[in-house]
Amino acid sequence: MRSGICPKCRSASVHFTRNGIRRGQAFGLTVRGAWSTAQSEDFVCTSCGYFEQYFTPGGTLQKIAEKWPLIRPANRSQPGDR
Ligand SMILES: [Zn+2]
Repeated sequence: MRSGICPKCRSASVHFTRNGIRRGQAFGLTVRGAWSTAQSEDFVCTSCGYFEQYFTPGGTLQKIAEKWPLIRPANRSQPGDR
């Protein structure tokens, strides 16, 4: 996605902005005390609608790592699975 090519439909219609999607409006997600100050990098494919959002490294990622349960990778992970 960061390369400008959509991983889903392979088109070069990926647009990028920082903090383009406001938390709490587009999504009902909250991290206590962290979400309102979170900075993000947002990628949207305007061909198929695929959307990726990354937090910029910092306090928000650290709080999520502390508070959200970690998913243990299964032995039989499938190609393309995230
Ligand atoms: Zn796409």
